[in-house]
Amino acid sequence: MSGKYLKGLVGTTLLVSLISPSISAEPQVFFTEEELATEALQDHHDHEGEHHHAHTLTPEEEKRFYEEAFQKDQLDILNFRFPQTSWRECTDVVTGNYSGYNCANRRQVSVILKDFMDQYMPECVQEALDKVGDGELDQLHIIHDGVLGDRRHSPRSLHAENRAIDIRSFRVRFYDGREKTYVFKGTTNREFYRAFRQCWGQKVSENNGCPYYGGSVERTGSIGWEDRNHQNHMHTSVPYCVGGSYGSYYFRR
Ligand SMILES: [Zn+2]
Repeated sequence: MSGKYLKGLVGTTLLVSLISPSISAEPQVFFTEEELATEALQDHHDHEGEHHHAHTLTPEEEKRFYEEAFQKDQLDILNFRFPQTSWRECTDVVTGNYSGYNCANRRQVSVILKDFMDQYMPECVQEALDKVGDGELDQLHIIHDGVLGDRRHSPRSLHAENRAIDIRSFRVRFYDGREKTYVFKGTTNREFYRAFRQCWGQKVSENNGCPYYGGSVERTGSIGWEDRNHQNHMHTSVPYCVGGSYGSYYFRR
């Protein structure tokens, strides 16, 4: 990691924390005609259920993505529509790691996703634990398949704005010291994940003004077993909503 890269990230983080102090401060974003046309087309496909999951970057690809932006002076690559911050995967309240890798000192995420992860994810995991009759959550750890999607490639998704995380499993440490991992893949933990998704959808609706997706609280802010591209991970997002409807940059889930 170059010093330049570090400096850039720190600068972004400081700026971001000044601009967006709370969850309710969803910024207004502006798009070019071309972007709107592309969005409308892709959103149409999404609506018809033809949405293919956007490629989410591996840790190596993610590092290269940011480094290239600085080396080639392509700073527009980093021109995210929504404020960004860092998830300190090893030490934050909710910890995590990209599947098969060590936790990252810092991983860039949108402020709104980070806020929702910190404030609502433990609560929703506890609701899921209650549903299946397990214990009291002490520490929550997320094993994931990535956050960032490359905006320069189609199809775009909420990953292009770091507003979504692909969750493979939750590792839970209980107050009594036990640890248990809840794997998303398969049907073993379906009841657990169903309860989690219902809770998350409710939080997204209540705290970000998003209507229930297709009338379903369970499908609000997440994609799972109902989609053939989401059998191994649960796509978990904070969609962009304004005035009680989906702003749709990019897509509704
Ligand atoms: Zn995803």
